[in-house]
Amino acid sequence: MTNPNENSKMASVAIYPGSFDPITYGHIDLIERATKLFDQVIVAVAHNKNKLSCFNIEERLQLCQQVLRPLQQVKVEICSQLTVEFAQQRQANILLRGVRVSTDFDFEFQLAGMNRQLMPEIETLFLVPSEKYCYLSSSLIKEIAATGKDVSQFVPNAVSQALHKKFSP
Ligand code: ADP
Repeated sequence: MTNPNENSKMASVAIYPGSFDPITYGHIDLIERATKLFDQVIVAVAHNKNKLSCFNIEERLQLCQQVLRPLQQVKVEICSQLTVEFAQQRQANILLRGVRVSTDFDFEFQLAGMNRQLMPEIETLFLVPSEKYCYLSSSLIKEIAATGKDVSQFVPNAVSQALHKKFSP
């Protein structure tokens, strides 16, 4: 596939914001797809005051960094501000989000609309993961891990170990 920005001087940068609490193979599938479309993908690990997180922001950052290290085009950063402001500061005009099932759509549509209202020059782009990851979510993984069950088919080793540690008595 050819990159439409190939001949322009500016590197194409996309931001992939999320809670990543924790990062799963579904997120990684999306990130790998994005590296084929953009020169650089910045994974923005967000503080989310509306969600009670299992891993704190530093833990989420470290897990993302650890599992994404082999992907040279990918950078991981903490995002403590509005996503559109974070994107603007990094000269990125694309926000990536994932859509797995139709129930994701309402929330994602609202978020994309609000972000466009705040900064019209930034586009939201939706990517669809491989079918085998469409049912995967960080919340479900945490629920399963909390029961002591193995989740290594859904998340990288570093993450399943961190979950195991988090939920062991
Ligand atoms: P947020 O709290 O911002 O929704 P998440 O880490 O749950 O953070 O999700 C970040 C983005 O990744 C969202 O757009 C979500 O739809 C997408 N996502 C989450 N899980 C998957 C998956 N299994 N496959 C593809 N996209 C996913």
